[in-house]
Amino acid sequence: MTPAIDVRHLTYSYPDGTAALRDISFAVAPGECLGLIGPNGSGKSTLLLHLNGILPERLGAHPAVTVSGIELAPDTLFEIRRRVGMVFQDPDDQLFCPTVYEDVAFGPQQFGNPGTDVRPLVEATLDMVGLHGFGERSPQHLSGGEKQRVCLAGILACRPDVLALDEPTNNLDPRGRRELKSLLRTIPATKIVASHDLELIVELCPRTVILDAGVLIADGATIDLLADEPLMLAHGLEKPHSLQHRHPHA
Ligand code: ADP
Repeated sequence: MTPAIDVRHLTYSYPDGTAALRDISFAVAPGECLGLIGPNGSGKSTLLLHLNGILPERLGAHPAVTVSGIELAPDTLFEIRRRVGMVFQDPDDQLFCPTVYEDVAFGPQQFGNPGTDVRPLVEATLDMVGLHGFGERSPQHLSGGEKQRVCLAGILACRPDVLALDEPTNNLDPRGRRELKSLLRTIPATKIVASHDLELIVELCPRTVILDAGVLIADGATIDLLADEPLMLAHGLEKPHSLQHRHPHA
């Protein structure tokens, strides 16, 4: 089966010379939910930014990223951005319209057929994320959890094949976190979740990739990797509480 995401030998340095990713390769099957963990500065955000071509600054002759069989190149960038939706860490980076409705409508207006009435889609998506009736509210005056759901609605309204989420629970209280988790479970898209919230990763992602200093350290079953205390400690991570009594490969 063609992978939803295929990353081959991805190496990247920022313009200031910081080496952020070193020869990263992995594939994600359609419908899979992959966890991406690692200490601060390990390259998680940089990797996500490569999945829809926000990075590198200039696409090279040898694409390292393929989305559903389409190589990431200048002439496929628009199509790949339609297919891969990115939910950033800070909702304030993503919300820029005066109303929730306009924010959620922005993507479908950009990617859909010109002239199509996007209102039914926007309203159905707001219902789906639990924001029925929020259309005329100002995104700036919502709670962290509500803002996060507006961002998600804006991405979901574009019907992406792949959802890349960077620290989705960062600004959420326990209820917001629980609601986001349930919502993500209902979304059939392929998902890649970068997070320090290892309990979220255990609950949501059957498989996980560990990055450290831009290197892919491990790729395997979440419960096996995260229950491996020496592995976790060696890479600035901690065995999650829910796996305390579990031994690797048990
Ligand atoms: P993570 O998401 O795992 O915290 P990042 O992808 O943000 O890691 O960072 C990976 C490395 O790239 C770090 O060394 C970080 O300091 C560096 N980095 C991130 N953004 C930039 C940037 N815009 N310019 C230069 N270096 C950067």
